[in-house]
Amino acid sequence: MRDVDNALLHGVGTKTIRRWRRLYQRQGLARGQTHLAPPCPRCDSAPLAGQEYAELLGWYLGDGHISRGRRDVFNLHVVNDATYVELNAHLIALMATVKPHGKPHTRLVPGAVVTTVSWKHWPCLFPQHGAGRKHEHAIVLEQWQRELVEASPPDFLRGLFHSDGSRVRNWATRTVAGEVRRYEYPRWQFVNASEDIIGLCTWALDMADISWRRSAPRVVSVSRRAAVARLDALIGPKR
Ligand SMILES: [Zn+2]
Repeated sequence: MRDVDNALLHGVGTKTIRRWRRLYQRQGLARGQTHLAPPCPRCDSAPLAGQEYAELLGWYLGDGHISRGRRDVFNLHVVNDATYVELNAHLIALMATVKPHGKPHTRLVPGAVVTTVSWKHWPCLFPQHGAGRKHEHAIVLEQWQRELVEASPPDFLRGLFHSDGSRVRNWATRTVAGEVRRYEYPRWQFVNASEDIIGLCTWALDMADISWRRSAPRVVSVSRRAAVARLDALIGPKR
């Protein structure tokens, strides 16, 4: 940031900003925030909020990615449709729970909200982070991740279906006693280009006892009435 902009931001003169910076440099003080980073559940055996992690893993595999920032800090970003105001607020809370004391921030891109929180240890928590797009390399969960999902399949499903899923309404008409009636058949669909992620979705659906079928190469459909009702109850509406 330019000194002149920084001065405007803080309501002080440009010279003051320059003086503060020189003071910091002369005393060898660290620039920026100097709060302590929370310990890592993997490196430091710090506690991890398992249910929230299982859900965030679903969001990450759906529409998340990790980028490398400065000084070995990584940024976890989750992109979600701007229409879903409640889900976007929920994402902020979710990220702040998985990274204790984390302060996620959001930015708007056309049609979507990107929620971001930085941490050196995101690659420890999401070892699937790697070069290239998710569908171009294998996505295999580590044993500890599988155990967390097994402990809480609905949370994982919530993350997956609320990122890369949709609840669609199909209509059909039927003539009953000479009268045309319209019926609604809602269903959930999960769409992902990675066969591995599709496999994780169906694995979790099986654990949650929800019937599904592959309706297209990249699509998992939950369309039986009882299965839709069960998934609705477990993951809640998209809004
Ligand atoms: Zn770590």
